[in-house]
Amino acid sequence: MKTLIIIRPDAVLRGLVGEILTRFEKHSIRVAGLKVMQLDREKAGELYEIHKGKPFYESLLNTMVASPVVVGVLDTDVLDNKSAISLVRKIVGATDPSLAEMGTIRGDFGLRIDQNIIHASDSVDSAVREIPIFFKKEELVKYKC
Ligand code: ATP
Ligand code: MG
Repeated sequence: MKTLIIIRPDAVLRGLVGEILTRFEKHSIRVAGLKVMQLDREKAGELYEIHKGKPFYESLLNTMVASPVVVGVLDTDVLDNKSAISLVRKIVGATDPSLAEMGTIRGDFGLRIDQNIIHASDSVDSAVREIPIFFKKEELVKYKC
């Protein structure tokens, strides 16, 4: 199972990219694709399209385009699809850093709900929809073992 993460502008500026990737690698989750990108409002809007119309939508887009992000595809093929997504989300932690458990990425590094460090696909369907927004098939590697 492949799932999308985005290390958000706040985390990239704070130099947390390596630390965040390490958290996943420690669980034998591999990186299948990785790039540094400057998002525009169109791409950020496509990612967060289910939130269109919500009060925080415009500020969410502003946050996502403020400075470069690191977009990654994580490969969790040793797990079934649902377990893979739930493991990644568990490592990430709750949306609001003040509620996220210590030991999760958001619990350890997040400041506020609008500076919560990382995006991660929340379901198998979301991962399938989100990955092609950022990666062509040939940009993703396959591990043979
Ligand atoms: P993400 O999709 O970024 O992984 P999530 O799935 O935990 O986060 P969502 O409900 O999808 O949470 O919200 C998407 C993003 O919108 C959050 O990461 C957060 O930055 C922002 N957000 C969500 N709810 C609020 C809110 N009530 N006020 C301000 N910002 C919010
Ligand atoms: Mg979400």
